[in-house]
Amino acid sequence: MDYLSNIIFAVILIAGVGYFVRNIKKLIRNIKLGHDIDTSDNKNQRWKSMARIALGQSKMVVRPVAGFLHIIVYVGFVIINIEVLEIIIDGLFGTHRVGLKVLPESVYGFLIGCFEVLAVLVLVSVIVFWLRRNVINLKRFLSSEMKGWPKNDGNIILYFEVVLMCLFLVMNATDITFQNMNAGNVVSQFISPLFGDNSDTLHLIERSAWWLHIIGILIFLNYLYFSKHLHILLAFPNTYYGKLTPKGQFNNLEAVTNEVKLMMDPNADPFAAPAEDDNAEEPAKFGASDVMDLNRIQLLNAYTCTECGRCTSECPANQTGKKLSPRKIMMDTRDRLAEVGKNIDANGGAFKDDGKQLLGDYITKEELWACTTCNACVEACPVSIDPLSIIIEMRRYLVMEESAAPMELNNMMTNIENNGAPWPYNQQDRLNWVNE
Ligand code: SF4
Ligand code: SF4
Repeated sequence: MDYLSNIIFAVILIAGVGYFVRNIKKLIRNIKLGHDIDTSDNKNQRWKSMARIALGQSKMVVRPVAGFLHIIVYVGFVIINIEVLEIIIDGLFGTHRVGLKVLPESVYGFLIGCFEVLAVLVLVSVIVFWLRRNVINLKRFLSSEMKGWPKNDGNIILYFEVVLMCLFLVMNATDITFQNMNAGNVVSQFISPLFGDNSDTLHLIERSAWWLHIIGILIFLNYLYFSKHLHILLAFPNTYYGKLTPKGQFNNLEAVTNEVKLMMDPNADPFAAPAEDDNAEEPAKFGASDVMDLNRIQLLNAYTCTECGRCTSECPANQTGKKLSPRKIMMDTRDRLAEVGKNIDANGGAFKDDGKQLLGDYITKEELWACTTCNACVEACPVSIDPLSIIIEMRRYLVMEESAAPMELNNMMTNIENNGAPWPYNQQDRLNWVNE
């Protein structure tokens, strides 16, 4: 019978982890639909950014209350899940609290005591988060892109955390051996009397809480793929691959730069073969109209977005009532990428044209041209996401492929072309103001 429960445990564990790995493979395949981009530079600086921003949560504390509560939930949740190691070993080998066999009772008690305190802190933080989302009605959680699934997703994960923390405490409170040890039951000793003293009943509740706890963790793990909470994992690679160049520095299109250089060089032979070191191939498309035109870091950004809305709340275009939310830009990119991924799955591994694209079907021209390119969204993002780079790529597409810039911009570009300045004055007239 014991063996049977070990086998059932192993099957559940393999199924849970296996499904998660399968989905992560899909996620990596989707990210690889983007252009490759060289991120092999400045490895030291990248590791430091990751340690500071993802592990140290340095950008979260800019808003101290939310930042502090987030750190408690993050640290508490990660540390408490060290307990999962013990559960897995116990489940696979039929032991009970194997930690007690390898650690002195005082050390084990100290660890579990810390976990119990953290569990209570996580519960308190989660309740505050729930109130912020559902009762206090913070403006950044009320935007149109946060209706429906994004709102439910935010709440579901909070309920998950409440259930998991409660199961952990109930498991400890009803474990007679653990309670008799009287070390580490700093919180559970107060809950324990609620369950009476019938040893059979206590054993049944303890076993139920134990099984539900591990099953809940596996469900949580698999839920991540469908949720914005994927950032728990992706914040690490995303901050590693984050942009290191100064904010506001745009990449030049090498093919265009070479073309302009050629035009400016009076000795250039336009029919000459390209130089050997000239490896700038003309891109198949300038800019981006769909997710496959973006680079892999931009697609990783989209999957990492936590939907926190810090970018949107800092965005001057959004603040002045324009139809632009950098958070929505990231959510739209992710949703379109997920749609493309499903299309590939449904068509035997190849994308079948579905007549849709990111531009127009998800993100409108109006949103793109509302951006002032101020970089406030990039600065505000706690996980190094760069919504502006996607906006710029899509604008590039509009200008270079569709000649669809707004009239004001077209006028300015014509002026630059004709007059060498953005204003509609002839170069000879530039100094007229001196005469006045
Ligand atoms: S760069 Fe654009 S999207 Fe980002 S905050 Fe500024 S105006 Fe908003
Ligand atoms: S882009 Fe960054 S700041 Fe904006 S919602 Fe996503 S995680 Fe938050």
